[in-house]
Amino acid sequence: MQFSKLVDSYEKLEAVSSRLKMIEILTEVLKESGKGEISKIVYMTQGTLLPAFEGAEFGVAEKLVEEAIAVATGFTKEQVDADFKKTGDLGLTAQRMRENSKLKSMRARSNTVSDVYDTMRKVAATSGQGSKEGKITLLANMFASATPAEAKYIARYPLGQLRLGVGDATILEALSAMSTGNRESKSMLEEAYNICSDLGEVAETLLEGGVEAIKSMRVSVFKPIRPALAERLPTAEQILERMNGMAAVEHKYDGFRLQVHKSGKKVRLFSRRLEDVTDMFPDIIAATLAEVKDEKIIFEGEAIAYNEATKEFLPFQETIQRKRKHGIAEKAEELPLHLFAFDLMYLGNKDWLKEPYKKRRAELEKILSKGKRIIPTTKIITKSPKELESFFEEAIEEGLEGIMTKDLEAPYIAGARKFSWIKLKRSYKGELSDTVDLVIIGYFLGKGSRAEFKFGGLLGAVYNEKRDMFETVSRIGSGFTEVQMTELEKLLGKTKTKTKPARVDAVVEPDFWVYPKYVVTVMADEITKSPTHTCGREKQKDGTEVGYALRFPRLVGDTAIRQDKSPEEATTTKEIIEMYGQQKKVGVKES
Ligand code: ATP
Repeated sequence: MQFSKLVDSYEKLEAVSSRLKMIEILTEVLKESGKGEISKIVYMTQGTLLPAFEGAEFGVAEKLVEEAIAVATGFTKEQVDADFKKTGDLGLTAQRMRENSKLKSMRARSNTVSDVYDTMRKVAATSGQGSKEGKITLLANMFASATPAEAKYIARYPLGQLRLGVGDATILEALSAMSTGNRESKSMLEEAYNICSDLGEVAETLLEGGVEAIKSMRVSVFKPIRPALAERLPTAEQILERMNGMAAVEHKYDGFRLQVHKSGKKVRLFSRRLEDVTDMFPDIIAATLAEVKDEKIIFEGEAIAYNEATKEFLPFQETIQRKRKHGIAEKAEELPLHLFAFDLMYLGNKDWLKEPYKKRRAELEKILSKGKRIIPTTKIITKSPKELESFFEEAIEEGLEGIMTKDLEAPYIAGARKFSWIKLKRSYKGELSDTVDLVIIGYFLGKGSRAEFKFGGLLGAVYNEKRDMFETVSRIGSGFTEVQMTELEKLLGKTKTKTKPARVDAVVEPDFWVYPKYVVTVMADEITKSPTHTCGREKQKDGTEVGYALRFPRLVGDTAIRQDKSPEEATTTKEIIEMYGQQKKVGVKES
């Protein structure tokens, strides 16, 4: 496929305001793509080079793109930079500079999608001494042979700023439409995606072997599985009722979720966001090799710094700090990381996802029976709400976050938030029993004392899975430090847009719209009904439309942006509605 064709579609995607239209445009592109090419188109549209677990980084900063534009167009670096200051989008700057180029076009022939993608792979692979010049040359050659519209996306792609607003669910729906003409195969494709975490591979498999080939896709070691997620319920009674009267209850550790993949002497670790974090945890690798004897295995757990002598757990922030470069060795001695394992997904060349929890767990306990650093989570099996409550109390006293209840008969449900896992956390007076993760879809300019930051708060949204849309639930104006405000303004300035992105549903108009990309964690006092937000919005008998909103929302956490969550992994509309229902009922524990 010619790159110009894909660029045409990208321009259309940027301009549409309806999600259905987006799917139509994407479907057309996918239908016309060939084998070996469709995966490239999928990765490009996702704004990545390869799936997250491959860890392929472009290694390209704005200054480098500016230099490449200068080389390719004959403008000076200063001129490019001055234009960028005006547009705020290097894509637009590249387009303008290409249009008015002072040099003759080097367009000997038009670029194909593969030409551009393969060159970007080269850009990413260029490292070491002289790599900056090497990257500039590769990019400049691409700019020089591109049309102005192509130049726009060549600049944006390696900066992770495509501004298409397309998410995985949209791509999956377009793939389904490509193969069956409708949404019919979307859930099957999603299942395949959940076990391999590689949308490019799903697309290639579909193109090559149709839905039959998709059905036969299996879990494999070194390809992370999208994590199972937990629902919430406020009381022990409700949890047990939902679990048909009996459940396993595990301690809930506030650490770092790790998926461990082992084959022979090779071990790889993946984060909750499916990034390869192997190099961050040499001690967990060593412990796995020493304590897990099985040849091929995938299991999952929570890594947390734990002092065995004092039986003390360290909070998430400190566990992470423990991973910082300096003094890893000393810290590792002082506070060794433990992996509290809670699930088994693959063993003995067999996919265990469909096995019931009780069987997976029994096997896991057997495997780890002699473990010292990798140990199963503390657990009980109970029918009694009272026992569940005292187990919860005990967990809190030990400095843990709460508990996780698991349905004994349920399979491992990859990539979905279901009631087969239910979490219960401590709640504080006057606050929701849990924080929520909101997607930034806009921001406001500062007024009064905030004017100097050009930042006066965020417009936050939740994700509606059914609609694949982001619905606003709150304006967040407090909880920011001055540093965070400056950083947010800088960061959001790069993804701002004049018009509302297609997958955003909002009535409130921020000063700037932002493409859904970043997630922040917010605490609030309660959830209320509100006419100004679109989260769960429904027409009332009197004709007015009412949604849900957060009361007294404030940003929490030292780092504003949650690096471990993509927009589609934010709190969902469904969860907000459930939390609204739950706050009316008695909370479990108030302290
Ligand atoms: P989520 O991961 O569900 O999106 P979140 O990031 O806000 O939500 P929590 O609500 O605190 O996290 O709870 C879920 C996380 O708890 C899991 O992703 C996992 O990392 C962690 N966890 C700790 N202990 C357990 C356990 N025993 N079983 C399953 N998960 C556990």
